[in-house]
Amino acid sequence: MTNEPLDLTGMLTCQEVVELVTTYHEHLLPPEEHQRFEAHLAICPPCRTYVAQIAQTVRMMGALTAEQESAEGTLVLLDLFRDWKRGRTLSDTD
Ligand SMILES: [Zn+2]
Repeated sequence: MTNEPLDLTGMLTCQEVVELVTTYHEHLLPPEEHQRFEAHLAICPPCRTYVAQIAQTVRMMGALTAEQESAEGTLVLLDLFRDWKRGRTLSDTD
């Protein structure tokens, strides 16, 4: 019934990757969660691209104060996620 090539038991979903990406970049994920995160990236190119974009954003935001980061960073992340989802939807219907 499914075309999934891999056993996805315990695998993070794309949504979870999006939710955990900042924690991942801060190296605050527990080791097994970190592994699952990277396992997902290994099989999910769109998430790899997304995480790379976040890494860039996080670096840019390094210049801001922590207060600005929490307010503006969330908006930037939501923006990126919208673009990312739109890109996925387009390529899915292609
Ligand atoms: Zn994914």
